[in-house]
Amino acid sequence: MLKVDENLCSGCALCAQICPQGAINLFWGKAEIDATRCNFCYQCVDACPQGAIVEIVVILPAELRVTVLSLGQQADDIIQRIDSLLSKADVRIPLDSSRI
Ligand code: SF4
Ligand code: SF4
Repeated sequence: MLKVDENLCSGCALCAQICPQGAINLFWGKAEIDATRCNFCYQCVDACPQGAIVEIVVILPAELRVTVLSLGQQADDIIQRIDSLLSKADVRIPLDSSRI
């Protein structure tokens, strides 16, 4: 869902002019997006000189939990592989490094 950050919007209307869906109107000098008309072409995002149009991504707590658990598992797997490689490596450290 696209949303206009009212604190950044200067009311220049460039987004409203470029929107092919006529989904943007200005109210009290601030742009507003009609979500029912928007087709997510992102032309307004590219056109806005203020970077005021942002995408809001809704992530459910359950989805976030699955993602975090998955990342944790991947991190554990990588650590195990590194440990395994280190245990197999023939690493010899000279006792007196000044002779090298
Ligand atoms: S282009 Fe950006 S600054 Fe201009 S009216 Fe649209 S949202 Fe506001
Ligand atoms: S993404 Fe495209 S259709 Fe949606 S408001 Fe912006 S310019 Fe209009």
